[in-house]
Amino acid sequence: PLPTHLMAVAMGAFRTTSAGEVTLNTLTPGPNDDWVLDTAARALAFFADWLGVPYPFGKLDLVLLPQVGTAGMENSGAIFLRQGSVSAATREAATLIAHEIAHQWFGGLVTVAGWEDLWLNEGFATFLAPKALAAIAPDLVDDAAETRQVREALHADWAPTGRPLRHAAATSGEIAELFDVIAYRKGAGLLSTLQAWLGEEVFRHGLGLYLHRHALQAARSDDLWSALESASGQPVSAVAGPVADQPGAPAIRLHWKGQALTLTRVDPALGPLPLQLKLGLADGQVVHADCLLDGTAEIALPAPLLWAFANAGAGTYVRSLPTAPRPPLAALTDAEATVLLEDAWLSLWIGETDLLACLGLIR
Ligand SMILES: [Zn+2]
Repeated sequence: PLPTHLMAVAMGAFRTTSAGEVTLNTLTPGPNDDWVLDTAARALAFFADWLGVPYPFGKLDLVLLPQVGTAGMENSGAIFLRQGSVSAATREAATLIAHEIAHQWFGGLVTVAGWEDLWLNEGFATFLAPKALAAIAPDLVDDAAETRQVREALHADWAPTGRPLRHAAATSGEIAELFDVIAYRKGAGLLSTLQAWLGEEVFRHGLGLYLHRHALQAARSDDLWSALESASGQPVSAVAGPVADQPGAPAIRLHWKGQALTLTRVDPALGPLPLQLKLGLADGQVVHADCLLDGTAEIALPAPLLWAFANAGAGTYVRSLPTAPRPPLAALTDAEATVLLEDAWLSLWIGETDLLACLGLIR
């Protein structure tokens, strides 16, 4: 069965054009319509392939509307799009199309058992859209911008008004409040953390299990943890459960002396945290190390440490307190450098570091 909020009817004198399973419906044809149709058709094929699960609803109508409440709505098999949001071939437009198509699997094929697990819908659509872009429109990809958007959730998550990712809602007003930066971007950040930890192939396998086990049914966060545990043999529930059930962002402090690196959790209540480290050694080597950090850990290195960066690949939803000396920007990717600067800004905002120390980071 489909949830009622994903059922929709559109009536009007639509002009239609089709590409495979996808039909574009528009009242007023525009110059970007062919791009919208082509982008949607390719995103649909990408997700079916990447997830290993065929598109579940037979046909997919894109309904371009001049006025609609949100930029996009993922009705199963009949995505509504605000025409003005897809009137140019931009990263934002491609992301919107890919986001709504990802919902056909996450939200449509497997829907959520209650509003408290809404993040499963929005977190997955937010997390998966950039993957489609990388495959179908690589010229529109902006890794640093994607990283910055997930980091926005860290700011909201630190605030005393923050809420847990899994959060009950009873009234329509409370439900509307759930569609926030936490559901979309902390959700995507948690999924990205799990992918970085388990590896993309194992993570994909786990998602396939989740979709097959719960196809055309409702699922909860625990069902996702369980599928990922089946695929990986790792304690996914212990890692992801506390991050989903409690407010607040994972945070760590790095400290080193000679060949010994010490990592300390600043938020010990949030469960074990998988980290991928990038470390610059005095002998010129840059080495990588993985760690499942619960409390404090010490890592012994083959040579004295010059600098350390705790978010190699920029995929982990964690903030690090600034270190001195900082990693050289030349040793980081654009997304990693974005993490470094965003973390410094957040530490300054919280009051853990001062402006001069922060400016020292960007000199
Ligand atoms: Zn969405």
